Amino acid sequence: MLRIDVLSIHPELFDAFRTTGVIGLAREEGALELEAHDLRAWCDDPHRKVDDEPYGGGPGMVMKAQPIIEAVEALAGPKGVGREARVVLLSPQGRRFDQDRARELARERHLVLVCGRYEGVDERAIDLAIDEEISIGDYVLSGGEIPAMAVIEATARLVPGVLGNPASLATETFQQGRLEGPQYTRPAEVRGQAVPEVLRSGDHGRIARWRDERARKRTRERRPDLAPRGDER
Ligand code: SAM
Repeated sequence: MLRIDVLSIHPELFDAFRTTGVIGLAREEGALELEAHDLRAWCDDPHRKVDDEPYGGGPGMVMKAQPIIEAVEALAGPKGVGREARVVLLSPQGRRFDQDRARELARERHLVLVCGRYEGVDERAIDLAIDEEISIGDYVLSGGEIPAMAVIEATARLVPGVLGNPASLATETFQQGRLEGPQYTRPAEVRGQAVPEVLRSGDHGRIARWRDERARKRTRERRPDLAPRGDER
């Protein structure tokens, strides 16, 4: 079972996400716990202000350290030896997220994901409360909530018991360091384009070989950086 706590100033963004699709089913099955918390609940000022002007001047606002540190400590305990949760700040400056990292995170028992907003987070909150920073790619979004959802969905589906049919992971893109091949469903013909004959042959050996060959071809063409040694073009 994986428990995930999210800290955000817009926890309502997670309302539909928590109850929909694989994530919703995983929660119902008890394989995943997912809560989104309002960071403002840990503000020590009467106006529940989570941001302030940057020291040294400049545009925009910076998220204050105090609410983040106190919220993380309430959910995960103090940073350092003995903390059992992994505390992640979503940040465009973090290490680039990928399937390998999702696999590692799926082996954790408790994740706390902190979503930044505005110009980002006071550096002392990172030093004092965060274990690692994760980026979902080289572009800048307005908040960490969508990155958190991407990390949650990629991670949760790798937790045992979350996917109804774990066999679907075996051939999935990135699972064996390559892309999955093309897939088809009914009807057998769409606008004159027929499903490859082999897939309707019922010959499971031939089908498996065809799928393997197509997956390799697609990987070579689209992602030669992933292709196994000797398999590059
Ligand atoms: N001023 C920051 C900088 O230049 O690095 C960007 C802050 S961004 C507008 C606001 C928040 O969105 C960040 O604190 C982070 O939580 C989130 N965010 C934006 N892009 C992201 C990305 N590519 N991956 C993860 N989080 C991201």
